[in-house]
Amino acid sequence: MHINLTGKTALVTASTGGIGFAIAQGLAATGATVVINGRSDSSVQKALARIREALPQASLSGAVADLSNADGVDALIAALPAVDILVNNAGIYGLVDFFETDDACWENYWQTNVMSGVRLSRALVPAMVERGWGRVVFISSESGLNIPADMIHYGVTKTAQLSLSRGLAKRVAGSGVTVNSVLPGPTLSDGLAHMLDEERVRSGKTLEAVAAEFVMQHRPTSLIQRAATVEEVANMVVYVCSTQASATSGAALRVDGGVVDDIV
Ligand code: NAD
Repeated sequence: MHINLTGKTALVTASTGGIGFAIAQGLAATGATVVINGRSDSSVQKALARIREALPQASLSGAVADLSNADGVDALIAALPAVDILVNNAGIYGLVDFFETDDACWENYWQTNVMSGVRLSRALVPAMVERGWGRVVFISSESGLNIPADMIHYGVTKTAQLSLSRGLAKRVAGSGVTVNSVLPGPTLSDGLAHMLDEERVRSGKTLEAVAAEFVMQHRPTSLIQRAATVEEVANMVVYVCSTQASATSGAALRVDGGVVDDIV
């Protein structure tokens, strides 16, 4: 199967690092024009340069916007060309005990992880429907199914994305626009590497080894028994954005390394 998205424009939110960057690079490799989003001009420029180094022919642009609030999302929408593929990747996570999570924490997670996708979908999907083709992908998490006791605030937002994705898929049924969510398991992104850095330095082990230990300690049902790479997650997203994935809509697609112990 050869995925060719030449002529399509994709927005990948929060794509200066981590999973978002790998998705942006993966989509650029298929010929799509990709809009890279980050919160600072320097991070966006660095990401653009990294992709251009790997893919000199890539068609790219950058859009600086903080998606944790309505003004930031509005500024991004105002700067966008017509978008055919929307990947709602922006998301924050971190361990906080439920009894320490105040309203401001809940609000920040809700705005960043859920409302950014609501606002962007509301603004961009009607034109996709009019054109008769579009792809929307929400980057949820296996934590939306296996709610982590030490990240309830995060799990709630990731479950909400599944509901949003399924509902929106129904709302645009029959239009040629598909809406899906992708559920990564523990993935060795910049964010996870940062979380594990102290242990890496303390133990003198490689980042991959520390990540594998983290996975087996916190997600012992993992079948791959290691963290996924960002490229492994991006591969699923690129597929679901492809023209070939036209019969997949309203689905929750796992790239969780088998962490969710379920047969469907
Ligand atoms: P990351 O922390 O490695 O990268 C996130 C990127 O988002 C960074 O470049 C950061 O600068 C940017 N960002 C953060 N807040 C932003 C904002 N308000 N506006 C714009 N950009 C912003 O993250 P990641 O691990 O790649 O996670 C990406 C997505 O994947 C998230 O939605 C996360 O919930 C999901 N996910 C990650 C894992 C994992 O193990 N890494 C597992 C399951 C799901």
